[in-house]
Amino acid sequence: MNGGGAMHEPLGPPDASAVPRFAGPATFARLPRLDQVPRADVAVLGIPFDSGVSYRPGARFGPEAVRAGSKLLRPYHPALDVAPWSRLQVADAGDAGVNPFDIEEAVRTVHNEATELYTRAEHLVTIGGDHTIALPLLRAAHARYGPVALVHFDAHLDTWDTYFGARYTHGTPFRRASEEGLLALERSAHVGIRNSLYGARDLVADRELGFAAVSTLDIARRGVDEAVDRVRERVGDLPIYLSIDIDVLDPVHAPGTGTPEPGGLTTRELQMILHGLVDLEIVGADVVEVSPAYDHAQLTALAAANVVYELLGLFALRAR
Ligand code: MN
Ligand code: MN
Repeated sequence: MNGGGAMHEPLGPPDASAVPRFAGPATFARLPRLDQVPRADVAVLGIPFDSGVSYRPGARFGPEAVRAGSKLLRPYHPALDVAPWSRLQVADAGDAGVNPFDIEEAVRTVHNEATELYTRAEHLVTIGGDHTIALPLLRAAHARYGPVALVHFDAHLDTWDTYFGARYTHGTPFRRASEEGLLALERSAHVGIRNSLYGARDLVADRELGFAAVSTLDIARRGVDEAVDRVRERVGDLPIYLSIDIDVLDPVHAPGTGTPEPGGLTTRELQMILHGLVDLEIVGADVVEVSPAYDHAQLTALAAANVVYELLGLFALRAR
């Protein structure tokens, strides 16, 4: 990253004392567009795709909702003691042009666009979109970094084989990623798992693939710090890809999502777990499954925008 030794000050958002936060560019956190900067440390890409959902649709409108929810983000992150977009050039890469009628073509488009973006940005943070898109994003990350440790925040395992015969859906990306050798499975973990299952076999099959899981009840009983310890021990010193399904949060905190599951994390618990990943080598991330038609008072969009902000803070700290 050029963050610490940047030759020029990163281009940031408009001054909020001159252009109020509810005005200004409709980019993430009102940051510049990628085409306005020579190169970015972190590109934020929207993927307005929801043709892979099994229940409530609507995540195609997630990117614009998360951008709208990001307008109130301010430059300095006190808990991490870092000013993410003063240290790093963060830029909004717009939305991928995904086919809503052909999932496999959409998967190829996301792969191609992510691969192309890696030539213009060091890291990608993607705003979904349903969880199908994690597969092509992992393909692009794997091409750049080799097998990555996946830290997957979700109420659901997302390692099922097929739905109605379909191999590319929002419930199957990590099965496909496992089959394709994209992940260091012995270093990968799910965090926040809690949903009802088709059977106990689902958990066995997931373990047989090689994943570990930290359940929401584990976190409730033993606390955030122990969850962080388990994740850190699991990933070791490998490059990490974070895939964050917003339904890891309780529907009280994130009602606007495709497959809500009661009994989830609070937004604050998720923030604290993410803070615990400080100094790890996070190479890319996605925040998915925001479906604004089911949202109330922007709860989900604000939570997702804040999760992206936590990620930018982690990237910025690594650049020190
Ligand atoms: Mn989920
Ligand atoms: Mn998911």
